Amino acid sequence: MLDVDLHCHSTHSDGLLTPVEVVTRAFEQGVRMFALTDHDDLSGLPQARATAEAHGLQFINGVEISVSWHDETLHIVGLNFDPEHADIAGGLRDVRAGRHERAERIAADLERAGVAGALAGAKRYARNPDLLSRPHFARYMVELGLVKDTQTAFKRYLTPGKPGYVEHVWATLAQAVQWISVAGGAAVIAHPGRYKLNNRQNESLLGEFRDLGGTGVEVVTGSHTADQYETWARYAQRYGLKASAGSDFHGPGESYLDMGKLPDLPYGLVPVWEGF
Ligand code: AMP
Ligand code: MN
Ligand code: MN
Ligand code: MN
Repeated sequence: MLDVDLHCHSTHSDGLLTPVEVVTRAFEQGVRMFALTDHDDLSGLPQARATAEAHGLQFINGVEISVSWHDETLHIVGLNFDPEHADIAGGLRDVRAGRHERAERIAADLERAGVAGALAGAKRYARNPDLLSRPHFARYMVELGLVKDTQTAFKRYLTPGKPGYVEHVWATLAQAVQWISVAGGAAVIAHPGRYKLNNRQNESLLGEFRDLGGTGVEVVTGSHTADQYETWARYAQRYGLKASAGSDFHGPGESYLDMGKLPDLPYGLVPVWEGF
């Protein structure tokens, strides 16, 4: 079992627990090196760091940046960077600005599909008003009784081809890697097994990411099966990339994997956290 978790969310994006609660829970679950990686937002880091320091937990600054790459939305995790650096702070401000208009389009689509009051409803679940996300819409649809859980809301409404899904242009891959790198951090491709990419596209992504200065890929994540740990371990080795590990915890009942339950990295990989 790993005592490292480098991918988790709080109420500053689409998680259910505050930064203080997430870090406290990580500590109680046996995690000793922890990164908070809220989507496109750094505002939870100071509170999370203070809580970690009070527990004697090693805290790593983190973020999960939304990126558009060809027809796919990718997530790039940034680790161990300076959150005060103007490039990442300003870049993320622009990414967040795009979320407002996107949320309005999602809400308009959902209204047409019969979900009344979608925008106001989702906003009630977003503790950070700059970070309206699909899970907030999903939670509101559960409240309405339209779906039994958030997974079902995604399956019926919030994924490509469904009535509440809208196309959106996020940051570029080059921007995300650059923002993280110039702030002194390590860029990592989050849950690579989750994207709808074939082998040739995976190879092209990894080559481009490495050439841009990317550091690693998540091998062990709550989104991967045991088979995918092996697949992505091989990709990491072939491309000379380091390996990361994170639960992608969003809250009790809304996660594939709890904190403190990550298996060790497959043999032979270089952990991205070596040297943190
Ligand atoms: P957004 O950034 O608004 O596109 O929301 C993305 C978030 O939605 C992800 O970070 C996950 O937390 C959640 N999510 C994405 N796909 C699913 C799914 N199929 N089931 C449940 N949650 C999902
Ligand atoms: Mn999320
Ligand atoms: Mn993600
Ligand atoms: Mn995540």
